[in-house]
Amino acid sequence: MLPFNDATLLAYIEEALPAEQMAELEKRLREDATVRDRLSQLVAQRDNGVHSIGDIWRRHRLSCPSREEIGSYILGAMSEERRDYIRFHIEEIGCRFCQSNWEDLSESHHQEAVRARRRKYFQSSVGRIKAEG
Ligand SMILES: [Zn+2]
Repeated sequence: MLPFNDATLLAYIEEALPAEQMAELEKRLREDATVRDRLSQLVAQRDNGVHSIGDIWRRHRLSCPSREEIGSYILGAMSEERRDYIRFHIEEIGCRFCQSNWEDLSESHHQEAVRARRRKYFQSSVGRIKAEG
């Protein structure tokens, strides 16, 4: 179940939610006047310049991690807290920008791992041949 907090609603306004969550939220908006009211408040606040989307996203810690950080995330080289945040950002919020960075980096990380394995295998084969010879 999607948490319908301000952050989610703002992501909705910015069309930054994955299609599935957009649909879920739209359904909820039709059914629930409270959610509808909150959404129009947020739209009004944004349009009045009370809070920029950036401000609110930062306050909710929704800002995007850097590409380097996503790289470290894939390698698991970061604090647990930060890893949780990035996981939340990519998987729960479903930030499309970071998802594509993540896919891209995972793919190159995977290829690098395959190359490293091949290299290791090749070196041990060469070692064995030398020892036998
Ligand atoms: Zn992001």
